[in-house]
Amino acid sequence: MFNAREFATFRKQLLGWFRQFQRDLPWRGTKDPYCIWLSEIMLQQTRVAAVIPYYEKFLQRFRDVHALAAAPEEEVLRLWAGLGYYSRARNLQKAAQQIVARHGGQFPTHMEDVLGLPGIGNYTAAAILSIAFNEKHAVLDGNVARVVARLGAIRGDLREPRRWQKLQQTADALLDVNSPGDWNQAMMELGATVCLPKSPQCLFCPAAPFCEARKLGIAEDLPEKRKKRATVHIILAAAIFADKNGRTLLLPPPQEKNEESIADFIPTIVSRLWHFPIISVNGDPAAKLRAFLKRFVPGGRSAKWELAPAVNVRHAVTYRDITIFPFRINLKKFPRIPGAKHVALHDLSALPISNLTRKVAQAAETAAIPLKKKR
Ligand code: SF4
Repeated sequence: MFNAREFATFRKQLLGWFRQFQRDLPWRGTKDPYCIWLSEIMLQQTRVAAVIPYYEKFLQRFRDVHALAAAPEEEVLRLWAGLGYYSRARNLQKAAQQIVARHGGQFPTHMEDVLGLPGIGNYTAAAILSIAFNEKHAVLDGNVARVVARLGAIRGDLREPRRWQKLQQTADALLDVNSPGDWNQAMMELGATVCLPKSPQCLFCPAAPFCEARKLGIAEDLPEKRKKRATVHIILAAAIFADKNGRTLLLPPPQEKNEESIADFIPTIVSRLWHFPIISVNGDPAAKLRAFLKRFVPGGRSAKWELAPAVNVRHAVTYRDITIFPFRINLKKFPRIPGAKHVALHDLSALPISNLTRKVAQAAETAAIPLKKKR
């Protein structure tokens, strides 16, 4: 890619730029692997501005790996609620428990041990080891891959395994072995603030003199578009019970397929968190929900319930485009459903819930209460 002199100048320029212009973020400047690990996990698929308050709140409650390992899972998920991708929180805690049990509470320093922890892949392992322990591992995520691809004018789908491997080799070759932690952060910072996906700011870029894509005038065309997975449309109906005290009923986090009516994808859609009774429908949502409730709540009580429709909720989870028909059911006394909990409908924060469940609750508050039938 470069000759030896170009390599030296490139590294000097990029590191100098990073040290002068890096953003002031709460996880910058620390060498504590727990803090670096937490920030890297939270930052996966999530914007920096959204992560900061969660990061600070989480660290206040779980100051170290021991505190996180010993906490009830429900509390960990509650502090994560709203950040999405809840498997990250579950894996974080499982990994903390393994660190306590197998490594005496010390974050491991060997790549194989780090990769053995739940939820940690090559990128996160390289980030933690380089920033906390100065280990010589180059990071490669979507941001860094875009920078590397533009620097070398690499075309094609970057996620294609052989191309990704090549990008990793290039990232390894670029790594400044004297400052691997700063180097990795500089590459990430360049991708996040200057070498942007849609409009790279080449005029302000410290790597501009070394960038092939800029020289060829193709910076904005790289990386080339990936083939997208076709969108799948899903229709659901949800039952939002409400008693006269304004409380509602939530079901516990579903396991894989523990409810008779539940479709395979529902645990994923509710993020394996507390949720309303919810089913997949392929016909009249009210009729399907009523039939479900008849089976779900034995004793025939459900036959008398009025189902008040609320405004539909739209939600997207990766390639799934979801429409939910919420139905509010006002009643005096909740049906007895094993494991269910009752919480205030206008504030479900007592339990860990997904954004989808929060949206459904908000919609249910607008539900039109059906007029009483004339007798
Ligand atoms: Fe990205 Fe432009 Fe810098 Fe090249 S010159 S690395 S395309 S911002």
